[in-house]
Amino acid sequence: MTPLETIIREMIAQDGPMPLDRYMTLCLAHPQHGYYMTRDPLGRDGDFTTSPEISQVFGELIGIWCAQVWQLLGEPQSFAWVELGPGRGTLLLDAWRATAKVRGFHEAASIHLVETSPALRQKQAATLHTVPHVTWHDTVETLPDTRMIVIANEFFDAIPVRQFEHRGDDLFERCVAIESDALAIALIPTGQKHPSQSDSFYETSPARTAIAKSLGQKIAGQGGAALIIDYGHRKSAKGDTVQAMKDHKFCSIFDTPGAADLTAHVDFEQLMKAFASMGAATYPLLTQGEFLRAMGVDMRTQSLARGLDGAARNNLVSATHRLMDETGMGQLFKVAAITQPGLAPPYPFGEP
Ligand code: SAH
Repeated sequence: MTPLETIIREMIAQDGPMPLDRYMTLCLAHPQHGYYMTRDPLGRDGDFTTSPEISQVFGELIGIWCAQVWQLLGEPQSFAWVELGPGRGTLLLDAWRATAKVRGFHEAASIHLVETSPALRQKQAATLHTVPHVTWHDTVETLPDTRMIVIANEFFDAIPVRQFEHRGDDLFERCVAIESDALAIALIPTGQKHPSQSDSFYETSPARTAIAKSLGQKIAGQGGAALIIDYGHRKSAKGDTVQAMKDHKFCSIFDTPGAADLTAHVDFEQLMKAFASMGAATYPLLTQGEFLRAMGVDMRTQSLARGLDGAARNNLVSATHRLMDETGMGQLFKVAAITQPGLAPPYPFGEP
């Protein structure tokens, strides 16, 4: 039993079954035993790999998107370049390098990273030691009230969800309880009725909604834009999307609390509604494949490949294929853009 499982069992024994978002928060962010608090989970030796760790081209193209948006905003002399959950800092370093020649862009930027994990903050500081003006934040609440350009790759999937299920007319919440001396899901009555729905199941994420509203308010009020990349669905859908991953393999969310990564698919319909509710403009989603292709992934890969030979060249080309794969990341991952109202759609997004 992990130390965190002991703690969670005591909490349940004391207070009763806990909503799933509470369980996920403890597993990911418990100050001593939370998954992200104690380790760098990324890469081959970690539990999962992300697009910026697969290829430098990913961060480079996102950097170019940000510089383009800055131009669309009228090249403001100062803005906050914000990344949510920057992992190892790889994406931002690639984005920074790719935009070095955009006149005035680096001078205007101050970097703000939203990161809870001390282990990853340390990694980010090391990766970004050549980048000036980096500030860290625990939450989006303390971000400055200035114009900002926000990027987030695989951030919202790490923000916890709650799950509800209808049985007949009654609405139950799926909570974590102890059954037969093991952690298990239990259906706890909410006391609410849900007519017309039968045996269906849905997820919500109050925490994601709160983050999106806070950012949406800043973007609508002070100006700016956001680019959000994550795996998930365009339309709210039924079903359990919470999953645990350890050593690049799926496992039960109850196997090793605090030692496996827990995520849930992003419901982009709910997320975009939260941004829009604060007055920000949202655009039709693109798949990661569509976005990267339009941003010039093929040309960038070819031009980098020319300088490489043998294995390095093959690695680069196969990394791009992995990001673009129609049966994998290229299709599963969606890209969402959000801007201040009244702006022309930021390339390659269409009309809001
Ligand atoms: N964007 C990176 C890392 C993705 S992993 C990449 O693409 O490689 C998720 C990141 O979000 C980690 O940096 C993790 O520490 C951070 N994170 C998770 N929950 C968070 C929270 N509630 N607040 C701030 N950062 C969080």
